Amino acid sequence: MNLQENKEFIFQQVAEAAQQANRPSDSVSVIAVTKYVDSDVTKQLIDTGVRHIGENRVDKFLDKYELLKGTGVSWHLIGSLQRRKVKNVINYVDYFHALDSIKLASEIQKRAEKTIKCFLQVNISGEESKHGFKVSEVDQALFQIAEFDKIELVGLMTMAPQAASDAEINTIFEQANKLRITLQNKKLKNMPFTELSMGMSGDFKLAVQNGSTFVRIGTAFFK
Ligand SMILES: *Cc1c(COP(=O)(O)O)cnc(C)c1O
Repeated sequence: MNLQENKEFIFQQVAEAAQQANRPSDSVSVIAVTKYVDSDVTKQLIDTGVRHIGENRVDKFLDKYELLKGTGVSWHLIGSLQRRKVKNVINYVDYFHALDSIKLASEIQKRAEKTIKCFLQVNISGEESKHGFKVSEVDQALFQIAEFDKIELVGLMTMAPQAASDAEINTIFEQANKLRITLQNKKLKNMPFTELSMGMSGDFKLAVQNGSTFVRIGTAFFK
């Protein structure tokens, strides 16, 4: 594993995918998902020039945050968050990517000491196993979240089903971006919806081609 080479390769691939979509390469941020490695390796990764760190579990997020908070990177909590853990972590998070219920939003409102930038997680495919609001539930969710002034909805987050083909993933990502644009155009207070968190190691090129602004990449950094 050569972190510097992997980092450069990934950033190059993201930049190329952006160019192909006629987007500036700096319109896409790469979040390095460090759940597979310890704080030492995460520090080495930051030294290669990565500016965004993502963790999907609260305990691992806090371990790394405690040791590496002085490095100036942005901290992303990308995985589902249990309500009872909100108070331990939410004030250290720069971006929370998995807002998937009103009860969770209500708990964040209660515990946050600053405005928290959140992504509304949507389940575009409607698969039962996935977290997130169904598309048909989004309007009602926004109506309820509008009461919570500690939550800023910067965008949507979505994941493609594991077994999906490239064509299916492409359709899902396209729908996610269309939904994001629709919500952005509503110009709702505290809900800019300028961002789209989608794309992982296996599908980030398709995500960037479909308007993703944050790709969440783990495996490809550490092989
Ligand atoms: C692990 C994880 C990723 C990164 O997945 P890779 O396939 O390892 O790139 C992205 N998003 C979430 C929510 C994850 O848990």
